[in-house]
Amino acid sequence: MSVDTGPKVAPHAERATFDSLDPASGEVLASYLVADRAEVDAAVSRAREASIWWAELGFDGRRSRLATWRRSLARRAEELAELMHQENGKPKADAVLEILLTIEHLAWAAKAAPKVLGPHRVGSGLLAANQASTVEYAPLGVIGVIGPWNYPVYTPMGSIAYALAAGNAVVFKPSEYTPGVGAWLAESFADSVTGPPVFQLVTGLGETGAALCRAKIDKLAFTGSSVTGRKVMAACAQNLTPVLMECGGKDAMIVDDDGDVGAAADAALWGAMSNAGQTCIGIERVYVTERNYDAFVRELTTRAGAVHAGTSYGPITMPSQITIIERHVNEALDAGGRAVVGGRESIRPPFVDPVVLVDVPSDAAANTEETFGPTLTVTKVRDGDEAVEQSNATGYGLAGSVFGKARGMELARRMRTGMTSVNSVIAFATVPQLPFGGVGESGFGRIHGADGLREFTRPKSITHQRFALPVPLTSFRRPAAATGLLLRLIRMQHGR
Ligand code: NAD
Repeated sequence: MSVDTGPKVAPHAERATFDSLDPASGEVLASYLVADRAEVDAAVSRAREASIWWAELGFDGRRSRLATWRRSLARRAEELAELMHQENGKPKADAVLEILLTIEHLAWAAKAAPKVLGPHRVGSGLLAANQASTVEYAPLGVIGVIGPWNYPVYTPMGSIAYALAAGNAVVFKPSEYTPGVGAWLAESFADSVTGPPVFQLVTGLGETGAALCRAKIDKLAFTGSSVTGRKVMAACAQNLTPVLMECGGKDAMIVDDDGDVGAAADAALWGAMSNAGQTCIGIERVYVTERNYDAFVRELTTRAGAVHAGTSYGPITMPSQITIIERHVNEALDAGGRAVVGGRESIRPPFVDPVVLVDVPSDAAANTEETFGPTLTVTKVRDGDEAVEQSNATGYGLAGSVFGKARGMELARRMRTGMTSVNSVIAFATVPQLPFGGVGESGFGRIHGADGLREFTRPKSITHQRFALPVPLTSFRRPAAATGLLLRLIRMQHGR
């Protein structure tokens, strides 16, 4: 099936454009406009107007409209999956799974928003016993979303769906590698939700993203590399625009003494190689205790024999990434590492076959920098404690996995990451109620779950005085005896 994604630009238009390519063949799929600063500002200004309408619809009004969009996404899932396959290169089954997870999140965000964000009464305490205290979460207004290409639906929608459900308008700048998927999402929203433009798209390269950072938005939700994340923060700092940073990772798996070696090898293979390793929460390192090391490497190499680029997963979407993958593999091998699956010859652009490396020094790039390819290092460790220590020895801290029984939960807690799956990989990403995000170089702030809804709001605290205190404490009418009264109160409340 072929999806008509364009051309989005008339050939005679004297405007800067860029092409979206099929990463497997290099064929041009469609051309898109490079939105300049004025166009980005205009979209944000339209969004500002639309945000008022959207906020005034209230939770119920938004929920019914988001449900209409959700049903449309579900009905047209195959069409979207085909487009994702074309632009990103991922197998259609992976694309369908990504759409399913996205729809689950959209459904949860719209349903949970009233409970999570609506008014909550909180206790007022003795000093303010005459006040009724309420906290609620109001939308920020206009959210700028900048997305990557690796999960072109699931990843940006982690911000878009939650921001919309929380009552904001969104201006979305998709990756220049997957503009068609971004355009499809915005068009499908417009088809489902009539009214002011609550969800708009601006296409372009990095400069268009930079223009969105400098526009009059209320928050910028960025998903992409840590390098670009720094530039986004610097640009947003000009207007004190708050940012949500979902950046890169170097996720590790720990296989403890009592871990199921076969299940761990299977999970490591999927975690490292699926989507050609182009997964922010992909497994790039495995630390296995001495007792299980040989058996794990054996299981992994056997299973890896059935995994091939071009059939099990697609090409490397972004050509420049091949150079990084190649450098990490070469440096690891030059530094004394051994390839037990694949090797230098596995890199045959635009495809990269699975590479599993052992005996790689801990300071090699393959163990410290994000590779973002179908490669994996496996390292022998004394025990679970050393595994945690080595897992935590990078600046990144996105997610991870632990295979073990007795110490599974303990080791998971000690990983310095935002998410960990025990006895599976990336399971946390499938649970809408679980917040998603990292620490350190992996960023900050959260999408998904109640935290992900609150991320796109401002807490609003209100006290409502029900009766006047017999002794006015915050008034110039305060009696002289108030000092003694307050001192007694301090001793009574806190002095015992
Ligand atoms: P990237 O940083 O190259 O680009 C991301 C987006 O930023 C693109 O839309 C790009 O056009 C835009 N951009 C580039 N320069 C900009 C600038 N100066 N100002 C504003 N925007 C600019 O990342 P990528 O290659 O598209 O994505 C891969 C990276 O994303 C990996 O590091 C991966 O780990 C990370 N990622 C993280 C998560 C997460 O949730 N933490 C999810 C998916 C991907």
